[in-house]
Order: sequence, then structure tokens, then C-alpha cells
Amino acid sequence: MLQKAREILKKYYGYSSFRSGQEEIINRVLQGKDTLGIMPTGGGKSICYQVPALLFPGTTLVISPLISLMKDQVDALHSLGIPAAYINSSLDYEEAAERIRQAGRGRYKLLYVAPERLEAKGFLARMQSLPISLVAVDEAHCVSQWGHDFRTSYLAIAPFIQELPRRPVVTAFTATATEEVTRDMVRLLSLKEPRIYITGFNRENLTFSVIRGENKRDFLTHYLANHANQAGIIYAATRKEVDNLHHWLKQKGHAVGKYHAGLGDQERAHNQEMFLYDDIRIMVATNAFGMGIDKSNVRYVIHYNMPKNMEAYYQEAGRAGRDGEPGQCILLFGAQDIQVQKFLIEQSPISPERKTQEYKKLQGMVDYCHTTRCLRQTILKYFGEETVPEKCGNCSNCNDNSQLTDITVEAQKIFSCIWRMKEQYGASLVADVLKGSQSKRVKQYGFHQLSTYGLLKEYTVKQITDLIHVLIAEGYLFLTESQYPVVQLLPKAFAVLKGQEKVLQKIRQKEQVKDIEDDLFEKLRSLRKELSQRNKVPPYIIFPDSTLREMSQHC
Ligand code: ADP
Ligand code: MG
Ligand code: ZN
Repeated sequence: MLQKAREILKKYYGYSSFRSGQEEIINRVLQGKDTLGIMPTGGGKSICYQVPALLFPGTTLVISPLISLMKDQVDALHSLGIPAAYINSSLDYEEAAERIRQAGRGRYKLLYVAPERLEAKGFLARMQSLPISLVAVDEAHCVSQWGHDFRTSYLAIAPFIQELPRRPVVTAFTATATEEVTRDMVRLLSLKEPRIYITGFNRENLTFSVIRGENKRDFLTHYLANHANQAGIIYAATRKEVDNLHHWLKQKGHAVGKYHAGLGDQERAHNQEMFLYDDIRIMVATNAFGMGIDKSNVRYVIHYNMPKNMEAYYQEAGRAGRDGEPGQCILLFGAQDIQVQKFLIEQSPISPERKTQEYKKLQGMVDYCHTTRCLRQTILKYFGEETVPEKCGNCSNCNDNSQLTDITVEAQKIFSCIWRMKEQYGASLVADVLKGSQSKRVKQYGFHQLSTYGLLKEYTVKQITDLIHVLIAEGYLFLTESQYPVVQLLPKAFAVLKGQEKVLQKIRQKEQVKDIEDDLFEKLRSLRKELSQRNKVPPYIIFPDSTLREMSQHC
């Protein structure tokens, strides 16, 4: 049988060998046993049920949640000469009825249906008269409320299968590997003594980078200038952010489209199509874009905001390099991203238990953004792989040849100022005071006196604000979650104020990120040099000893 499977792979698909996991899954399915295949996005799940479908007598029913994907897959099967069809809400009544009739006559080797169809009147009766050898459930995590794309209609799959005169082999696939979801898939799909195959999650051709404390738009400007002819996806956390980014990129002359749940069906379908056919190069999208998108030549996936957890991140990032060619997965981290994700969790209508779980996962994501260990190792460990090399040599942490610059003095000034303002104001007012502004706002809050020090007057307000955000990202400062976020000091900041710890800022080397020009820190360095020549002792300790004592009590 397996030999035949290889022949089919060669004959129909033109591939000479199975990928890791495919052969084992196919072999088991061919023995008539239920399986659950957990493979990364782009890992090659489709072949795992398409090849057995061609070897089994009768029809294989494929349950897929994605209308666009069904069409793509069926088109692809047609081009290989395989009789296949899909039935979903994109068809009108007549067309659907005709296809169901044809299916009832056993015209198709593979029949793709949306899960909702299983509950439609008359569908079951038709299917009962058909020899169905195999049911393949794609994106099987949709059956679990723990997953990120729960679909109620997935719960209809098991009862449907039960109603068939002869129980077919059932095989399910997903890229989501968490324990809760796995348990749910086995239970809610009523898999019979399934064997679970988890293939390696490593995607050798992907390069992972986390970029912190930089201006995101500046980063994009440079990056896109250097990757103009490549297809890429930019994910943002909210519809509004997508709209803004899309508008901005369009104005800069990029061939860019957008995708989020706030757009009409038609517009979404149109934009997706434009992207698939390379009529636009860049897709700016929320996480609504992508499940099941099989665009093979996506060269980069940039996360403009940190996503809510590692599962979501790896699935989205995994859309790069599906053709096996190099792909870059870049995450632009900003401290505000944590706030946004917390807000989204708070807002979502889920149980308190579930919220706790989501917060835990969010922490895993935040940890990824801050780790200095190999990013690939961090990902694979998260997904439970045990034998993972310490260093991959192909991520922004492994290739980190950044220089550490001492910004202790600037940090102390910022911390002092925040302390003096009683930790009750936002980053922009703090920046104004550090700049030495005598604006109406500064006076209104009574900081004109403090502001006369102009502790960081050599910098622009924007540079100071950026620096504050770097210190937030590095865990020295904390941004509260209120409507008007307030900057507060964390224990690490007190250690710095007391001179017990230095603040070192990573400045990446030019050759490492040829497409990023971080002028802020360049300027910072030259300014510091100049300053230290001008006055030997920087006047940053502005407090009497009593204040310092008070501070140490605070920690
Ligand atoms: P998934 O559903 O796991 O995200 P797909 O089934 O869409 O992934 O496959 C991703 C890509 O990998 C497709 O372009 C597919 O043709 C290709 N592919 C799958 N199996 C093999 C193989 N054994 N050899 C080469 N390419 C493969
Ligand atoms: Mg797939
Ligand atoms: Zn690495």
C-alpha cells in the first residue's frame, strides 16, 4: 500500500518523497485506523488525506472551515485530473443541489464541505447512500473552545459520522498542539483509538527576529524599501491599526491591500485574491486573515504588534516560506502591545478560568519577546519538543552582535523625574518635563519648577518618549492599564537609581540590520560624547538624600 502511496505522490503531485510525518500518517490511515495529525502550517497536511483518498474506494469527505481554501484545493485537484468538488455557501441553491446529487452518485473522489452543511436538511440522507471510506477534518482545532477559531458547527461532525451506515476512517489535522485542544479534538470528534502524530515543528527555512524599542514605522519604511518585490504579510492587532497602516503604506506608494473582519465579504475576497495572484505585494491584516491560506511565496511575515499567544504567533509567522525558500518572521515589540492584548482578553466574553489561561499564554508570548536565548529554541520548547539545539544560528538572538551602550544616566534622569511627578502621569507629560518645556500643560499640573531643570533638554521630546518606551519594554517602567496610561517605576528602576545597576541598551550593528537605521541611538551616542566633554559631571542627581531614602523604602 505504502508503495502505491509513493507512486501516487510522484504521479499526481510530482514529489519524490514524503515529508516527515506524512508517510506515518498515511500508512496508519491506509490500515483503516483513526489518526490525528498535528503539523505546522505549511507542513503538508493536505497530502495526508488526499493520497489515501485516491487509494480508498468510494468518496472521501473533507470538512474544511474555509470557503476560499476549498475552492483552491478543488481547483488544484482538478488540474491534477482528480474528480473533486466542494459544497458551501458560495454556491446557489441549484448548484449545491446538483453537486449533492452528483456526489450521491459517487462522482467525486474528494468532496469538500463546510461543517454547517452536515446539519443541512437532506445532506445526511444523500451521504448515507454513498460509500464514504474516509472523513478528513481539516483545521480540527475549530472543534475546541480552547482553540483560537472555535466553530460550533464542528460539534456536528461526530454525530454526523455516527449516522453513517458504515463508520469511515476518520483523520483530523491541525497546527495547534496544546494539550487542551488535543484532548478536545479526540473527544469531540469521537476519534477511535487514534494515534496522534506530532511532526517536528521546526521550520528550517524561517528566520525569526524580535525587534524591540525601535520606531515601528521607521523599521517598516526601511524594511519594505529593501524587500520591494517580495510578497509579505503585515499583521496588526486591531482593525483600526490595520486601516491606519494600510493608509500610510498606500500613501507611500506600496502595492498594498488590507483584510479584517470589518470589511464586507466581497472586499475581503477581492483583496485576498489580489494578494494570492501577486497583484498586490503586501497584505496588512488582522488575525482574521490567513487560516488555510496557501500562498507559497510569502517571503516575510511582520507582526506590527505582538499577538496574543505563541500558538497564534507561530501559525501566522508560519505563512512565510511555505515553498521551502527562505522566509523572515519579524516581530516588532512595543510595550503598548501588552496593554492591547490584556484589554482584548478583558473584553472577551469568556469564563474567568479561561481568562486566567489566556493571561498565562500572553505571558509566554511576552517572554518570547524578551528572551535573550535562541528564538527557535524558545518556540520549539514551547510546543513541547524535547531535543532542541541550544542555538540555531539563524535568529535575531543567535546572530546578535549588537553593542551594548550604557544609558544609565539617561535612565536615572527619567526615573527621577517620574518619581518626582509621583508616578501619576503619562509618558508624554514626563517627556515634556524632562525636555524642560514650559507649556500650558506643564504649568497646569504644577511642574514648571521641576521642568526648569530640563534634565534631558538636549533630546527632542520624541527621542525622550521613545527612550521611555524602551525602558518600559525592558521592564524598568510599567505602563498602567487605565484609559490614560500612567508611567510607574518597577523595582529594577530603583536599583538603577541607587546606582546598583547599569542600564545597557542594545544597539544593533549596521551590517546586521542593513535595512534599519536607528538614528535615535546614533544621535544619543554622539550627544553623550559631546556632553561628557562639555561638563564632566552630569547634573542628574537632583534630589536631596532624603528623597533617595524615601525611594529605597518604596522598593
Ligand atoms: P498545511 O495544510 O499543512 O498548512 P499544505 O498541505 O497546504 O500545508 O502544504 C503546504 C505546501 O507543501 C504545499 O505547497 C504542498 O504542495 C507542499 N508539499 C506537501 N507535501 C510535500 C512533499 N512531500 N514534498 C514537497 N512538497 C510538499
Ligand atoms: Mg492546510
Ligand atoms: Zn537561534
